[in-house]
Amino acid sequence: VTTLAGKKVALFGLGGSGSATAKALIAGGADVIAWDDNPDSVAKASAGGIRTADLHTIDWSAQALFVLSPGVPLTHPKPHWTVDLARAAGVDIVGDVELFVRERRAHAPDCPFVAITGTNGKSTTTALIAHILKSSGRDTQLGGNIGTAVLTLDPPKSERYFVVECSSYQIDLAPTLNPSAGILLNLTPDHLDRHGTMQHYADVKERLVAGSDVAVVGVDDSHSALIADRIERAGVKVIRISRRSVLADGIYAEGTKLIQATGGAMLPFIDLEGIQTLRGSHNAQNAAAAVAACLAVGVSAEDIRAGLASFPGLKHRMQPVGRRGNVVFVNDSKATNADAAAPALSSYNRIYWIAGGLPKAGGITTLAPYFPRIAKAYLIGEAAAEFAATLGEAAPYEISGTLSQAVAHAAADAERDETGPVAVMLSPACASFDQYKNFEVRGDAFVGHVAALDGVTMLIN
Ligand code: ADP
Repeated sequence: VTTLAGKKVALFGLGGSGSATAKALIAGGADVIAWDDNPDSVAKASAGGIRTADLHTIDWSAQALFVLSPGVPLTHPKPHWTVDLARAAGVDIVGDVELFVRERRAHAPDCPFVAITGTNGKSTTTALIAHILKSSGRDTQLGGNIGTAVLTLDPPKSERYFVVECSSYQIDLAPTLNPSAGILLNLTPDHLDRHGTMQHYADVKERLVAGSDVAVVGVDDSHSALIADRIERAGVKVIRISRRSVLADGIYAEGTKLIQATGGAMLPFIDLEGIQTLRGSHNAQNAAAAVAACLAVGVSAEDIRAGLASFPGLKHRMQPVGRRGNVVFVNDSKATNADAAAPALSSYNRIYWIAGGLPKAGGITTLAPYFPRIAKAYLIGEAAAEFAATLGEAAPYEISGTLSQAVAHAAADAERDETGPVAVMLSPACASFDQYKNFEVRGDAFVGHVAALDGVTMLIN
């Protein structure tokens, strides 16, 4: 980051991306002073050459900028006071995405930059777009909320494509966010703890598309549909996408088919049928957004189709990991509550379902519409008895206890199923902490048990 060379910058939050941001600022010649509530993080940062001091003790009038790390909410009680000090001194408060945006504007304003937000599907869409760009041979940088901090990516330049997932919080702290293509996938009540009201949450998300050269907006929920209309009236070029309705202009899904509509003329773009990693109507929404954004930054339709067809999927999210005859093994370990498990259960017609773990309030009662798809449930962990009671007569089940038992029994039962294609799927609708460190470890364990079965062809390395 060179836009702050010679300037004093205060930074709060020295976790992974906070330290990365501090280092990028220092490398660009900024005079950084940083702090964290966690003494270990402070010690580690100091040892790594970052100057540290309690931000209550510094001269705020001398600071050019206050950088807050991703993950430190503005309303977080602890840095709240320093936020007030910065505000009182008239110091702007920004996050790492804003630093990236300024860097791009200063050095490479034509650098193609796709930013993605929404309540659900952000990571999938971000990874899908990056995959399409990469497989078309473009220099592609993938980061933001999905993993790599934006300032640790290669620096912006023309012909280098940035695909950046943005949380509401990152948008909040990026006042001049101006992507070449901005995506708002959907808006449903979520994360309201941080943002107070749905209106404020929607307003923050709106800023990403309002500032875009081209805005891609999913119009299947009322909040997003209103946003599309409003920013269009304000002069933004909007491409609408839908997985539910026919559009006269935009990209919409009809079953598994994506249709490109221009002035009422409908052109079939691709049929997603058979692309295992993009099953389900939620993925049709993600794919439609990716198509719209890639077209907007100049990728050819042919390259987009090829990229969609070869998308490897994201780990632990409805990921097809193995196959044996008519049986596909699916890792959806990321589904840590009932809402998150619903898309997976709606995407397969006959499911040997492995569920359970540490239950959440409400359990699986909201999943009742999918119970007819359950050939049998294999219940594990602390939730087993509760889930069994909810299933009742609606679907056959067994209490398997452990994941390894569940995989063994489900695989054997699915093997004997002669009704056609079936799925053995871990979509636990529970947290993992009773039996595993986190959902990733649980998903990896599932993959390990599947790989150990006789005669399975693994679909991942
Ligand atoms: P995010 O990054 O927004 O949390 P992910 O792409 O990681 O979203 O997907 C998480 C889960 O959300 C998926 O496993 C799936 O169950 C669900 N999901 C994905 N895309 C969508 C979508 N477009 N609409 C609704 N739910 C979705």
